[in-house]
Amino acid sequence: MRIDIITIFPDLFSRVFDFGMIQQARERHLLEIKLVDLRQFAEDKHRTVDDRIYGGGSGMVLKPEPIFKAVESCASPGQKAHVVLLSPQGTRFDQEKAKQFSLRDHLILICGRYEGVDQRVADFLADEEISIGDFVLSGGEFAALVITDAVSRLLPGVVGKGDAVLEESFMEDLLDYPSYTRPAEFRGMKVPEILLSGNHEQIQRWREEERLRRTQERRPDLLEIGKGSRTKK
Ligand code: SAM
Repeated sequence: MRIDIITIFPDLFSRVFDFGMIQQARERHLLEIKLVDLRQFAEDKHRTVDDRIYGGGSGMVLKPEPIFKAVESCASPGQKAHVVLLSPQGTRFDQEKAKQFSLRDHLILICGRYEGVDQRVADFLADEEISIGDFVLSGGEFAALVITDAVSRLLPGVVGKGDAVLEESFMEDLLDYPSYTRPAEFRGMKVPEILLSGNHEQIQRWREEERLRRTQERRPDLLEIGKGSRTKK
């Protein structure tokens, strides 16, 4: 899979993809990440990529021409890229969206800045607008990082054990079960007895119950959304 990130701050990403699963995915050639410097597509010698807002008002928005050109420069022959504009007004990113993105060959993430991006980018260039939550960031770069991380760990072959990601939070609309490691007792705090029993069937049952209990307690909305999907297992 290839992810192109269009940004005015490519240096912000300088080492962030050199660690953990993203690094592993890149090393195994399962993921290629390209940083595209928006200023390279500016048309004047000052490399201007933003301008004042028509109709007045404070702040600047990113101009359409450099963004259209930057996206066009990312095209690879015979492959339609999926173009995503990062925006607090977009569809909320979640694990389901991460799964969908992980099945694509080529994603282009456009990072806005300032007061945002000329509306024509959303209307005529982007395939969809995505938000990472109901808050306003100063730029799309951190949203692009979040999406790249969530997507890359779902690529087949990135996570070592085939089914490890299947039991994680939000898979099957449930949260993950609690995990413990050694020591079995630490400052009087004990690991649940069942996990030390060696009885895999009972441990599995306990984990499933814990997933359900936690979800009911913390995120009952997930159980509403996922009605039925848990039974498909
Ligand atoms: N004026 C815009 C509004 O009120 O909707 C906010 C612009 S924000 C300061 C600048 C850029 O940060 C946006 O164009 C977008 O790319 C990015 N951004 C901010 N919040 C985001 C979020 N929750 N999810 C994704 N991108 C976000």
